[in-house]
Amino acid sequence: MSTAPSSVLETEHRELVDSFESFVRRELVPLAAELPEDGDLPPADLRAYVRGRSAKLGFYAGDYPEELGGSGMPFSAVVLLHHAAGRSGCPLAPYALAGSDGPSPLLRQGTEQQVERYLKPLVRGEATRCLALTEPNAGSDAFHLTSTATREESGEWVLSGRKTFVSNAGHADFAIVVAQAGAGTKEGGPTAFVVEMDHPRLRIGQAYDGMSGEQLYELVLDEVRLPADAVVGGEAGIGAALGNGIDSLSRGRLVVAAMCNGIAEYALRLGVEYARERRAFGERIGAYQHVQEHLVSSRAEVEAAKLLTLACARLVDEGVETPENAALAKLTASETAVRVVDRSLRVHGATGWVRGHPLEFLYRYVRMMTIIEGTSEIQKVIVARAMGLG
Ligand SMILES: Cc1cc2nc3c(=O)[nH]c(=O)nc-3n(C[C@H](O)[C@H](O)[C@H](O)COP(=O)(O)OP(=O)(O)OC[C@H]3O[C@@H](n4cnc5c(N)ncnc54)[C@H](O)[C@@H]3O)c2cc1C
Repeated sequence: MSTAPSSVLETEHRELVDSFESFVRRELVPLAAELPEDGDLPPADLRAYVRGRSAKLGFYAGDYPEELGGSGMPFSAVVLLHHAAGRSGCPLAPYALAGSDGPSPLLRQGTEQQVERYLKPLVRGEATRCLALTEPNAGSDAFHLTSTATREESGEWVLSGRKTFVSNAGHADFAIVVAQAGAGTKEGGPTAFVVEMDHPRLRIGQAYDGMSGEQLYELVLDEVRLPADAVVGGEAGIGAALGNGIDSLSRGRLVVAAMCNGIAEYALRLGVEYARERRAFGERIGAYQHVQEHLVSSRAEVEAAKLLTLACARLVDEGVETPENAALAKLTASETAVRVVDRSLRVHGATGWVRGHPLEFLYRYVRMMTIIEGTSEIQKVIVARAMGLG
């Protein structure tokens, strides 16, 4: 039994986490062993299989209610599963849990028809989507979108503009596109639309190869004509995309924090194991204080980040969900994970730098965690505002 301080917050869902870990060990680790060494991103059909299998076992999108196809888990349980996926070190484990290509909280505000047609297949792991929010001149500042949505007399909408850095656009079944409705009028504002990826006027432009193999895409909206019912949430959804989205951002940030903590725990374990075995100058390198400094600092920071994340998740279960808490947890966990992976790589010397070593991959992979779901600077802006500053 673990005696780490954070274990106090892990006991409640121990059985669930054990059963997820057993699924990863028995089913995903053998599949991951077959992955080609040169690719960081598992093939789309394998990711689809993992998603579907995990949904059947009740893990994928587990916090969605049973009537939508989920398992009705408390949020803190989902956070622990994301932690376990990162800690496993299995490259397929993250795809067993819903991420940015899975059920969108925005669709929880969808009309009955949108819930049936779009949300439920996402919860079952049968479909994926992408979110097209960022634009070439509007990233952190998502309130200044220039993509427009114009309502015609017939009630149809026409979307124009460019979206950038969109994950999963190459494989998604549909996009949730946020555009400025009623530009130049008092009505409207940022509005979310469902756009099928095979829409003839929606074009994938540039593809960006990222640090960790995941591809991001530009989406070009070339007068994309949509029916009136494409607005997420119907009439009530017009101008409400960012308001509704902001409500769900906290949970997304806590999930990212949990993934980071899991990755950091895994990287630390690799560092400790190596330091106990590797010898230099006639000693195990773990005996040297400079090496201990890397690993002990990491241990302290991982434990603190984990406690913070798990406590925030527990508060969400209790109905306390503040942007400030989620920002604190995401900021702490993502920056910690970057440092911990770096330190464990240092402990490994050249061995960790070689392509194919898990730390070489994690060093590139973990960096995006300080950008997605709001950069570290933006998390600080949120906390500063909550402190009455600025
Ligand atoms: C791996 C990955 C996946 C992504 N997936 C998606 C996706 O699926 N859909 C999507 O729409 N977007 C996606 N993005 C884009 C992501 O949301 C944006 O990159 C992010 O919001 C930052 O915007 P930006 O890159 O335009 O940077 P900018 O907003 O231009 O920021 C540049 C720098 O200025 C800082 N900064 C900006 N404003 C402030 C401020 N007020 N105070 C202090 N510092 C500030 C930022 O922190 C950053 O350091 C993804 C990005 C990555 C890396």
